[in-house]
Amino acid sequence: MSADLLRRAAEKLRRAEGRLVMTWGSPWRVVITDSESGTGVATCEDHQLAPHDACDNCEHFETYYESVAEYCSVMHPPVALALADLMERAAVTPTEVDNDVWAEFEHLARQILCEPS
Ligand SMILES: [Zn+2]
Repeated sequence: MSADLLRRAAEKLRRAEGRLVMTWGSPWRVVITDSESGTGVATCEDHQLAPHDACDNCEHFETYYESVAEYCSVMHPPVALALADLMERAAVTPTEVDNDVWAEFEHLARQILCEPS
């Protein structure tokens, strides 16, 4: 069992989350950025329009692909922090984690770190 692997993945998630330069709260949602396609991701503290429309208060970025926008909207910063917390918690007491669950944690960590199994 490699607790270090989980800690490194958690650190990468926290570093990526910390590099977001704007105040990107949650949730993130897909917004229509051109005539009809939902190719943007937005967050808004005082949203005034339908969920898929960007209002003047929205912070948003363009992904150019609907599938990427959908994915990014799911993986907003609190999700990364929750995953980091979960992996660090498991890394503290690895012997208390079921072997099958530990294998899933290691797989997740390797995916985050882009390291082969
Ligand atoms: Zn808005």
